[in-house]
Amino acid sequence: MILTNARVLTFDSANRMLDSGSVEIRADGSIGFVKSGRVRGKDVVDGGGRCLMPALINGHTHLYSTLARGLVRPGPVPADFPAILKKLWWRLDRALNEDDVYYSALIGLIDSAKCGVATVIDHHSSPNACSGSLDRIERAFQKVGLRGATCYETSDRNGRASASEAIRENVRFLERRRTDLVFGAFGLHAAFTLSDRTLRECQEANESLQAAFHVHVAEGPIDRAAVRRLNDAGILNERTIAAHCVHVSAGDRSLLARRGVNVIHNPQSNSNNGVGVADVPALARLGVLVGLGSDGYTPRLWDEVKVAQQLQKLQASDPGAGAPDLLLHNRTIVKKLWGLDLGRIETGARADLQLVDYFPPTPIRPENLASHLLFGIANAPVHSLIVNGRYVVRDRLCVTVDERKLAAQAAVRAKALWERV
Ligand SMILES: [Zn+2]
Repeated sequence: MILTNARVLTFDSANRMLDSGSVEIRADGSIGFVKSGRVRGKDVVDGGGRCLMPALINGHTHLYSTLARGLVRPGPVPADFPAILKKLWWRLDRALNEDDVYYSALIGLIDSAKCGVATVIDHHSSPNACSGSLDRIERAFQKVGLRGATCYETSDRNGRASASEAIRENVRFLERRRTDLVFGAFGLHAAFTLSDRTLRECQEANESLQAAFHVHVAEGPIDRAAVRRLNDAGILNERTIAAHCVHVSAGDRSLLARRGVNVIHNPQSNSNNGVGVADVPALARLGVLVGLGSDGYTPRLWDEVKVAQQLQKLQASDPGAGAPDLLLHNRTIVKKLWGLDLGRIETGARADLQLVDYFPPTPIRPENLASHLLFGIANAPVHSLIVNGRYVVRDRLCVTVDERKLAAQAAVRAKALWERV
């Protein structure tokens, strides 16, 4: 297939932009030629002058949280972060059954696709439907046609047997041969719910697998010891994803940098939980690769970009402050951890593309692209999403599934789930 008559924002090393370009999508799901001008012939699709750009990557989220939308818990609003976990998320994840796991992943992935997100890095928990849960999530990825990684969050909060089952689920999933579309990581909840013994067991279980660890780090003050304890257990390395890193000391940041850990910033979730703001510039100054995630708060990554920018400005009382390039860092992290060439329109890269209904009303050039992204493209509807060369969204509808039917089925499950929470 060849997409023609599109404004191509390549995000390649030269940040090339083609006012009217054509991009070939090969049968193997990679990008072929990228050139200026229109082409004609069979298997050519007209982009209608829309912006064609790489699809987005969500660096950290929880698909299992999807069916919590609209759930109202009786009683006062939780007073702090541990109370939010105990009163909402840990009640929800314990109530999830096998079907809920599948449906929450399906709906979360459809939502992501319609926001131009092709790759989702998921962190899963369903203590009473643990065994086989990652396969159910994989099935949802395959059904919708999105790319991504999942893992099971190991924790001692439900007892030793549950922690052991979580380790087994990670190992079982990682040992099976994975495709370029769905892959795995080794999940841990957070240091404050993991004993030193369980941390060691995770490290040992992953010794021969060498999978990427995916763990929450210092999201709230309760987890201040996280960096030191995870480091002592051998969990921190260049293949570790550390979500949040809000309550880290200067020494912790240096250690994260020395270990080459990848940090994922989740500004809207952090704001919503009132836990604070990660010092992204301080991490970046030390050379820490900081990417961006939604932590289940939204499938719309552009909102995270906006809030990340605003929080850093407010925090520093400096309109010149910001958190640039976080989304671009996600592609670097995915390449580093899973070897996938995403996030650029260049020959040989994977054809994960979005066609956006954006027709710039002011001049657009590589030098001002960031402004068009933030104030224009971020607000524009996603017309099409192509993942690995295959349409997932077309004419603003998810074409791989019956979206309305699945939403209705999910709502029936959500009602029953809420009664168990
Ligand atoms: Zn999270």
